[in-house]
Amino acid sequence: MSEKTLFQKIADGDIPSDMVYEDDQCIAFRDIQPQAPVHILIVPRKPIPSLRDLVEEDKELMGHLFLCAARIAEEEGLSDGYRTVFNCGEHGQQTVPHVHLHLIGGRQLRWPPG
Ligand code: AMP
Repeated sequence: MSEKTLFQKIADGDIPSDMVYEDDQCIAFRDIQPQAPVHILIVPRKPIPSLRDLVEEDKELMGHLFLCAARIAEEEGLSDGYRTVFNCGEHGQQTVPHVHLHLIGGRQLRWPPG
């Protein structure tokens, strides 16, 4: 069996985290280096390395991540809006090779990002 990803270790409780939500398909926890007052990562339990690796059968799972993000945003009181981001690959500055949706909010965000 291949080694667990960092986020699988978090899902399994091997590494501590500030978990805000979990179900049978995904987990959500606070980013260790928050870029805004609210910065939460929504991560599928399935260790898909990046968006490039998605397959047809992942469609529902990916939709589930966005639904969870919207619900969590509401619970976090982000009524003025927020941003959801998947970083992908080197130019996208993805650092953890396990697909994750960033939910960022709680302050005025700028566009374009750096
Ligand atoms: P990315 O750069 O898009 O791959 O995002 C990875 C994110 O994981 C970064 O925002 C990191 O701050 C975050 N991160 C790394 N290790 C941990 C950890 N142990 N707990 C919570 N967040 C983490």
